Amino acid sequence: MNKITAIILAAGQGKRMNSQVAKQFLILQEKPVLYYSLKAFEESSVNDIILVTGDGQVDYCRENIIETYHFKKVTKIIEGGKERYDSVYRALLKVEPTDYVLIHDGARPFIMKDQIETVIKHVIEDKACIVGTPVKETIKIVNSEGTITSTPNRNILWSAQTPQAFEYKLIKEAYDVFNAEIDKSRIGITDDAMVYENYLKRPVKMLLGDYNNIKLTTPEDLLLAEEILKRILYEKNIKKEQFFQD
Ligand code: C5P
Repeated sequence: MNKITAIILAAGQGKRMNSQVAKQFLILQEKPVLYYSLKAFEESSVNDIILVTGDGQVDYCRENIIETYHFKKVTKIIEGGKERYDSVYRALLKVEPTDYVLIHDGARPFIMKDQIETVIKHVIEDKACIVGTPVKETIKIVNSEGTITSTPNRNILWSAQTPQAFEYKLIKEAYDVFNAEIDKSRIGITDDAMVYENYLKRPVKMLLGDYNNIKLTTPEDLLLAEEILKRILYEKNIKKEQFFQD
């Protein structure tokens, strides 16, 4: 029986949100942003969850999120590091022995349980997979003078989301190699697949995700998030009504 661990990242300061409160603690329909992804993972078949939070936020998270909402699978809450990749590495060093890890941005509240199950199924088959969506816009490469230098073919471009899932020992090995680099900012690591691709040179499967699985980054994302959540709750209610009628 495989053991699956989720790492939920909530140690970012969210500077682009321009808010006094870190974005993972902002309120959406009466609950903190972080509640929604924790709930999806709690209801999924993952075995345990390690929550990575900001400096001095461990007690706050335990009391106001884990205990308040009775999350049973969160077995550890740890402080993250300066960059996202530092937070992930700290978590990889602290997880209890496990077979697979699913790494998820706590700033993506609309991850659904079904999607988590799909990721689990594929990581067991492929060793590494992430969710993402084909890009809708044309993407430009722009130089420091603000001039376009090229336009990649949109047909092969995808936006990477989370969860990003890996066999534990492989992603740990990739992060060990990356962490030994002197200049870690050299290639601009922004997700876990990038560490795996660059330092382990193994394939990562891209799974079709959901356009609703947005990452809350700037203030306008919050308005969009309210709308997405209202729709999700509305659709859930309709399903519930249908269930009782059947
Ligand atoms: O900064 P960005 O929006 O890419 O952050 C993605 C996720 O990584 C967020 O959930 C954020 O809380 C987390 N993060 C972290 N530690 C950092 C920076 C970001 O856990 N040092």
